[in-house]
Amino acid sequence: MKFLIPLLFISVVYSQTPCDNIRTRSQWGSRSTSLTWMAVRPPSGFVIHHTAGARCTTQAACDGQMRNLQNFHIDSNGWADVGYNFCIGDPGQVYEGRGYGRVGAHSPGFSARSLGHCFFGNHMSVLPSSAALSSTQAFIDCSRARGELTASHWLSTHRNDGSVATTCPGDALFNVVSTWPRFVGNP
Ligand SMILES: [Zn+2]
Repeated sequence: MKFLIPLLFISVVYSQTPCDNIRTRSQWGSRSTSLTWMAVRPPSGFVIHHTAGARCTTQAACDGQMRNLQNFHIDSNGWADVGYNFCIGDPGQVYEGRGYGRVGAHSPGFSARSLGHCFFGNHMSVLPSSAALSSTQAFIDCSRARGELTASHWLSTHRNDGSVATTCPGDALFNVVSTWPRFVGNP
């Protein structure tokens, strides 16, 4: 018995991933909405976006931005919920938007078959924090490990959706993401 507690402690420390620390909808103060499950789960893609707006550097500020973004997407755009499956700010904690397995409203050609992941901020010429970048890479890996992405999934960005003309996720962020494993220009 005296060996059990240290072993449990070690396993907890080493199992921590961004998937274990998602800021849930109730934690950031989400509105209650009605969401649609993807026809095929898990999805085969992961799509990067930026908000092209302000970045956030504290949990309180990122909570507020999630609420603002959700209000804007529902009340101004007329969407069912915030458009993205997940968001992330400079602290590096992943925020639950529509979450796993739900159809997003983030990219017409990709929404039904991918998770949309949005960085707060305008990343045309400035990168997100290194914490947000590394956390996103780890989030992709742990999502796949949990079966929320297919084993052979692809990674791409909003501008790679041939059905839209957009600079999202910004040149600076695109230039980094396009070097990551599994990046595909035309998925
Ligand atoms: Zn986008």
